[in-house]
Amino acid sequence: YGLSSEHPAPRFFRDCTEPKKSYDAVIIGGGGHGLAAAYYLAKDYGITNVAVLEKGYIGGGNTGRNTTIVRSNYLTPEGVNFYDASVKLYEDLSEELDLNLFYSTRGHFTLAHTESAMRTMRWRAEVNKHVGVESYVVGPEEISKACPQLDISCSGQAPILGALYHAPGSVARHDAVAWGYAKEADRMGVEIFQMTEVTGIDTKGGKVVGVNTSKGYISTNRVLSAVAGFTPRITEMVDLKTPIVIHPLQACVSEPMKPWLDTILVSGSLHVYVSQSSRGELVMGSSLDPYEFHSTRSSLDFVEGLTTHITDMFPFLSNVKVVRQWAGMADITPDFAPIMGKTPLEGFYLDAGWGTWGFKATPISGKTMAETIAKDMAPDLIKSFRLSRFEDYELTGEKGAASVGH
Ligand code: FAD
Repeated sequence: YGLSSEHPAPRFFRDCTEPKKSYDAVIIGGGGHGLAAAYYLAKDYGITNVAVLEKGYIGGGNTGRNTTIVRSNYLTPEGVNFYDASVKLYEDLSEELDLNLFYSTRGHFTLAHTESAMRTMRWRAEVNKHVGVESYVVGPEEISKACPQLDISCSGQAPILGALYHAPGSVARHDAVAWGYAKEADRMGVEIFQMTEVTGIDTKGGKVVGVNTSKGYISTNRVLSAVAGFTPRITEMVDLKTPIVIHPLQACVSEPMKPWLDTILVSGSLHVYVSQSSRGELVMGSSLDPYEFHSTRSSLDFVEGLTTHITDMFPFLSNVKVVRQWAGMADITPDFAPIMGKTPLEGFYLDAGWGTWGFKATPISGKTMAETIAKDMAPDLIKSFRLSRFEDYELTGEKGAASVGH
């Protein structure tokens, strides 16, 4: 960085305060996706004259609020291939970013309590196997073997008939992913501005020419929006219509315990999922709040419903305390797949619709969006996530595999 010995290189990234007048590309949103896109733009394409603009602090959006599950056992071949590419990047990412992401492969069980849920598990297993992803259906005995603490009858409420087992299912330290990408992007010359809000996008003749920010005007002809639950606010700035709606998604953690839960367990019927973090806390989540709402306020209703079902599965947890709960704003699409790629406005690229499922996609979305920006053309891997699929009636239906409630 050309810093003197009095000012040694920062351990993570520079404290950039004043943006330059122009950049080759501007990325709106310093979450995992925006920072990963900046990293791969610099690393894969040598495009380093890039500003990442974050209105809060990096990773303070959904990247720092998610329950960190990484998996690729989706329902459509397009989805499985895409998330599988992300899992593969994650596996070597600690080494690549020279930062311990606590990436821990635990195995992932999606529990089925009804015959119709078993049918979806078989369907997903067959699609997964077809594209080479390790997923198969298991019975209650195998589930008990992997997790002897689980009450297979769920307190008699909803006996477990079987599960989809997905060996590569993992968890990782979510804020480290954002900080790791920020650190390496910064080292290659990308400038990261925190507390810098984009307030408008300037266009001329159907093309992007700049952005207005809380720190002044920046000219650029390439803008990536990677703002998760804030997408409608950004697309409004350029008069672009998308079918995204915002629902809150909540999560919570228990007090820490000695390690006892090795696997990740998800129950679509009971609307809950749980894993144990490297700190010993149970990380628990549920399905989306059923109403559209632009807020990160958490509710008693959520924690009551969640703990009822968690104690159906693990009655011995009834005296364990919940110590923190929170919410994020999830940008939901009609088919539960993301929206990625070019838009009708030249130079305006969209990475959105990440709903409840985008943490696992952070590396591959960064890589494919960097390619889209550098070549002004989306790679084949993300073509089925293009915005125009809603006009063409070519949806990528992932509702049976995204989130937990379906
Ligand atoms: P974010 O991390 O939200 O980053 C977007 C950033 O844009 C924010 O920091 C915001 O401040 C900034 N921004 C917004 N507007 C502006 C503006 N005008 N100017 C400048 N900056 C702006 N996914 C999984 O794969 N596995 C899970 O287990 C999982 N669990 C989840 C649990 C919860 C409770 C939640 C809320 C989400 C979960 N997700 C999960 C989804 C996942 O967290 C998101 O899809 C993913 O983090 C999106 O990353 P991002 O970088 O696109 O967005």
